[in-house]
Amino acid sequence: MMDNIKSWLEEGTIDVFLGYKEVEGHPLPWCFTRERLDEVDDLVLSPARYSLEKIANHLAEREPGIRIGMLARDCNQRALNVLYVWNQLKREQILTVDVNCCPSRLKDHADCSYLEPSEVGPYKKEVGIDNHLRLEDVESYEPEEGLYRWMYEFQKCIKCYGCRNICPVCFCKECSLDNEELVRAGPLIPDVPIFHLVRAVHMAGRCVDCGLCEDACPMDIPLRLLYQKVSRIVLNLFDYKTGTSADQPPLSILGDRVTLEPKPIQPASGK
Ligand code: SF4
Ligand code: SF4
Ligand code: SF4
Repeated sequence: MMDNIKSWLEEGTIDVFLGYKEVEGHPLPWCFTRERLDEVDDLVLSPARYSLEKIANHLAEREPGIRIGMLARDCNQRALNVLYVWNQLKREQILTVDVNCCPSRLKDHADCSYLEPSEVGPYKKEVGIDNHLRLEDVESYEPEEGLYRWMYEFQKCIKCYGCRNICPVCFCKECSLDNEELVRAGPLIPDVPIFHLVRAVHMAGRCVDCGLCEDACPMDIPLRLLYQKVSRIVLNLFDYKTGTSADQPPLSILGDRVTLEPKPIQPASGK
């Protein structure tokens, strides 16, 4: 693999290669170039996870003609697909080296044990939402209880923007979460629940369930479950599986336009 990457760089098939390099014992995202070809030998596959496609997006913004190679796990591939259909990157400018996390983590869409949340304490289990729950479990709460539990989680938010900043599909030049008409500037704690609902709505047709936001959240808010719910709605309404479809996303918030018709609602059987 290293030899291939070196050849691509030398021959100009790609201009840069995005991967990981160990620095002082930590695997960090790294941009390998033909000017420092020897560094490619230091490329590590490691369990490091980062939205390399987000870096690719920034590079392409600065230099539209750039050709980029990158390591890509399944979640990176899904995020790339989203960036292609949202016209943020061109397929022809990206060359991926596909890597598996490990076989057991590839059972299903994002069923990645690397994402195993940390242990949840008894208080959070009682009043909040256990990050280990399945979406079906969360949906089984009575509406009032579900609301109470989500509000408990949202109220912990310190508006650090970690979730947005790490997210591979949060690519907007002007983010609504910085828009004072929606989210008050200044106070550290965001208005609840508007901050989270704005972001959740924006993840419709974008979120690829990579879990990086939840990994990044210092307050342990079960963000994956929140966005899984949004994705479930998009799937049910539009038959659109985010990250695996080459179709235009059903909702385009940027242009306020609907590009797919919702599925017709089937009458209940026997009626
Ligand atoms: S999708 Fe929403 S939250 Fe993400 S960057 Fe765009 S405006 Fe901000
Ligand atoms: S799981 Fe979080 S970080 Fe990953 S795509 Fe969805 S919102 Fe973004
Ligand atoms: S990472 Fe967590 S605490 Fe920070 S803004 Fe996002 S939800 Fe709030």
